[in-house]
Amino acid sequence: MPSLTLGDFELTIFSDGIYPLDGGAFFGVVPKIMWSRKVASDDRNYVQAGLNSLLIRTGKQTVLVETGMGNKLSERMIKFYGQPAKLLTNLTAAGVAPADIDIVINTHLHFDHCGWNTIRGKDGKIAPTFPRAKYYAPEGEWQYARRPSERDAISYIPENYDPLVESGQMTLLKGAEEIVPGISVKTFPGHTAHMQAVIVESGGLTACYISDLIPTTAHIDLTWGMSFDLYPLQTIESRKQYYAKAIAEKWLTVFTHDPKVPWAYVEKDEAGKMQARPA
Ligand SMILES: [Zn+2]
Repeated sequence: MPSLTLGDFELTIFSDGIYPLDGGAFFGVVPKIMWSRKVASDDRNYVQAGLNSLLIRTGKQTVLVETGMGNKLSERMIKFYGQPAKLLTNLTAAGVAPADIDIVINTHLHFDHCGWNTIRGKDGKIAPTFPRAKYYAPEGEWQYARRPSERDAISYIPENYDPLVESGQMTLLKGAEEIVPGISVKTFPGHTAHMQAVIVESGGLTACYISDLIPTTAHIDLTWGMSFDLYPLQTIESRKQYYAKAIAEKWLTVFTHDPKVPWAYVEKDEAGKMQARPA
């Protein structure tokens, strides 16, 4: 697993695996002749997408940002996306047990971001995967997920969050809140109305899990949004806001769906073109 030190914090990427996504859907209105220079597709036009979770050890808490796709997909969804379900195995292999996680943060509640929040037991009952953890997710996302539009209803699986909200184990966030010292959330609308990035600061350094606002290093151009974005013009505005801080202050950007480069520094070259410099 890729790992680095950020001030006093230790950051590690854990993957829930790789899954196939339609290349056209992944790159929105960008013509294939352009995106195919950056990303390879197969004969069905699928490209590979990663499922990167970020583990932060602050010295006091162990914090997991995003929980991948999990293992509760329906047969129909497995036909489209497979179900790699590797996150727990990868955590265990690195000596991280589910009970070691103190805090889980979801940037939004699409199925490929909060899938391992819960597991279904043999008795069919849903239980938290991380028994001791306090879970956090944006309140606006949860409200929306209760009555999603026809367009993206398939992206929400209530078992991933409703039982945690009901039991009080999940706290719903308004945005711009500090969860523990050095770890806070900020709303960046575009992909959804309420998606929150997770900002990690220690020793004068900053990393940001920007989630589906900029899903991979191939999407760093301002206008290369996904067709999944509910508010594409807002995605561009939020990216402008993000880059104004992240480029100027040399933030490390964590890419949720990049199968090869989970984090990088986004920079602008002399011609004004965005570049991702690997960490
Ligand atoms: Zn999403």
